[in-house]
Amino acid sequence: VQGIKESCGDDFAVSVRLGLKAYAKGFNQGSIDGEGEAYRTLEEGVQICRILEEAGVDALDVDTGTYDSFYYACPPMYLKRGYMEELARAAKEAVSIPIICGSRMGDVDTDERCIEEGAFDAIAIGRPMLADPDLPKKIAIGRPDKIRPCIACNQGCLLRLFQGLPSGCAVNPLVGRDKDYAPTPALARKSVVVVGGGVAGMEAARTCAMRGHRVTLLEKSDDLGGHLISGGAHDFKSEVRELNLWYQGELEDWGVDVRMGVEATPELIDGLAPDAVILANGSSAVMPPIPGIDHPKTLGCIDALLHEERVGQRVVVVGGGLVGCEISLDLVNKGHDVTIVEALPSILSSGPAVPLPNAMYLRDAFAHHGTPILTSTRISSVTDAGAVVQGPDGVRTLPADTVVIAVGFRPNPSLAPSLHGHGYEVFEIGDERRVGNILTAIWDAYEVAHTI
Ligand code: SF4
Repeated sequence: VQGIKESCGDDFAVSVRLGLKAYAKGFNQGSIDGEGEAYRTLEEGVQICRILEEAGVDALDVDTGTYDSFYYACPPMYLKRGYMEELARAAKEAVSIPIICGSRMGDVDTDERCIEEGAFDAIAIGRPMLADPDLPKKIAIGRPDKIRPCIACNQGCLLRLFQGLPSGCAVNPLVGRDKDYAPTPALARKSVVVVGGGVAGMEAARTCAMRGHRVTLLEKSDDLGGHLISGGAHDFKSEVRELNLWYQGELEDWGVDVRMGVEATPELIDGLAPDAVILANGSSAVMPPIPGIDHPKTLGCIDALLHEERVGQRVVVVGGGLVGCEISLDLVNKGHDVTIVEALPSILSSGPAVPLPNAMYLRDAFAHHGTPILTSTRISSVTDAGAVVQGPDGVRTLPADTVVIAVGFRPNPSLAPSLHGHGYEVFEIGDERRVGNILTAIWDAYEVAHTI
């Protein structure tokens, strides 16, 4: 710092990004609750703030974590928004230079309150600016409800970098390619029918309507959102719920004709005389044909998410993919006794890749809570006693009040074969085309909708 000042002059502003606390117990092992700290404690972090101020630093930009606790350095949705407040306050009290607070600071109400109270001086926002580059403008004009929320999934921004791909954003397909890929006004106004009001259907309808097409969206249930509804049911997924509301607001703003409780049929679609039909019929949870699959204590993953009151104290979650692990985490957080059963040799190894910080958090959380994880183990049946499983130690019964089945999804039946040759283009998108995740659903929808 002193070298920079000597070379560039005293009026050359220098800020430092500083992790105030490491949240790490050791090599490749984070600390979920900050206990058992092996590296930098908050007290040391605050002491470093004072040393840096004395050395001439002009501002401190504070966050937490290190590579061994990567989920604090690049936090997934499992970490509470605003968790940094207390730590940044400690830094602010220790020094007189401005404190900028980063890390999970995307909640506008919390941010405004902190600034008003003088908890710190400014907020650093990274990922939410990818999800919505107009975030500051929307706050400035008093329309924070119009901000497309970052869901802290790390799917587009971080995972793609780890995969050697250009960084992107799950909820904003334009990130990194906005110049060549931005929506353009349609050359001719077409009539577009979208079947399915899940996230893929809503993204397709929004983009088509933005481009000037006349859009009708048909949804057979009484709610928009599809898997956003069940996926957003976890306590730690408030941003997914906000995303669903944001999409619904967009459909209204762009004048999409949304028809709820309508089952799409070839006759109904023909009657709307479309130029293009986009099928986004989604996917359903797989229920393996084992004895006891209809037992009252067996619940599919969607039912377990939507009907928490049906989940008992002792729970066996069958399937250690992301869906099963997130259900398990939510239940463990709520005090249930959970056992995870996974057929593969390790959890989080099936389905779309899971970003490293998210996977590290889940593994550390299960270790922290002492959640049993039985790998290379398969469910055989569900009985009055619980889940009968077969693993390396033979057959055993895991006592359970509820057995949650989370072994994957399969595409819902498609209308496509019955629509070909009807005089309009037909596209299949999202899970109906190929089961993926929120990123693939949204990107798929945009890819089709921006070219119609
Ligand atoms: S990919 Fe996910 S975490 Fe990253 S900016 Fe987009 S919504 Fe946020």
